[in-house]
Amino acid sequence: ATPTAITVGVGRGAELGILIKSGEALEAAERLDTVAFDKTGTLTEGKPAVTEIVGLALTAEESLALAAGAEQNSNHPVARAIVARAQEREISIPATDAFETVRGKGVLATVDGRLIALGNRAMLADTNVILDEGAEAAVVHLEEEGKTVAILVADGAVAGIIAVSDTLKPTAMAAVAGLKEMGLSVAMITGDNPGTARAIAGMIGIDRVFAGVLPDAKAAEIRTFQEEGRRVAFVGDGINDAPALAQADLGIAIGGGTDVAIESGGVVLVRDDLTDVPAAIQLAQKVIGRVK
Ligand code: ADP
Ligand code: MG
Repeated sequence: ATPTAITVGVGRGAELGILIKSGEALEAAERLDTVAFDKTGTLTEGKPAVTEIVGLALTAEESLALAAGAEQNSNHPVARAIVARAQEREISIPATDAFETVRGKGVLATVDGRLIALGNRAMLADTNVILDEGAEAAVVHLEEEGKTVAILVADGAVAGIIAVSDTLKPTAMAAVAGLKEMGLSVAMITGDNPGTARAIAGMIGIDRVFAGVLPDAKAAEIRTFQEEGRRVAFVGDGINDAPALAQADLGIAIGGGTDVAIESGGVVLVRDDLTDVPAAIQLAQKVIGRVK
């Protein structure tokens, strides 16, 4: 591309709230064939709320109290949702003696003298406790609704299950439809479980889903695409997303996201509008593709 085309593209992007950091970023945008999105905080608002609490070995209220006790020192969105619900219900949150986060899985804690493991299926697998048929059916049903399920194990028994639901960003569907219309492949990469991830992808129109991806492994998934010969953009908002944003041919950071993500992206979207993703690519195609 000519220096003039790049200057024009960067300038027009800035007017639209699409900050293009370099000529290379603009050129990469023009050549893409695949766009991979982070889920939580990127396609969704990233502020989940508790929707269901199912009491099993313990009552729903006891389960919520222990879960909130285990999560009170965690910053994870699922943890914040659980603590917020306990506070809303004015349940007194028991003290935690020991607490440990297990990345991509959940938390381990001692609450009220009970040994607690709380998190996803991978967390449950680590405890060697299994769901009985009824609990399994309840979890599957919640996952099919796109909810993230936290399974509470207290002293070696499944005490209860807590479902949290995150709102889709209103622009997610239009953004994906726009990208597909432009002939691009669209994928989602998430730490959430496959059932939940597929349900959410289905609602938005995304066909290719990578679920259960540990934070460090997002960049490796991008590399897999590149090894297939694809030129891929990754769209993300979080600290965890920085390596994937850097690995991608083009990193697109959501402006409301963390500073680390913003630093790692070649493009920063100032507005929280996902249709700016296809808009950015279209802009690059206009100023570079036709002026070659
Ligand atoms: P993501 O933000 O993409 O869901 P994470 O790697 O943060 O990815 O977490 C992966 C999954 O692990 C979450 O979807 C959730 O099911 C579970 N998880 C992680 N931390 C917690 C926690 N503190 N409490 C309950 N579940 C958790
Ligand atoms: Mg995120």
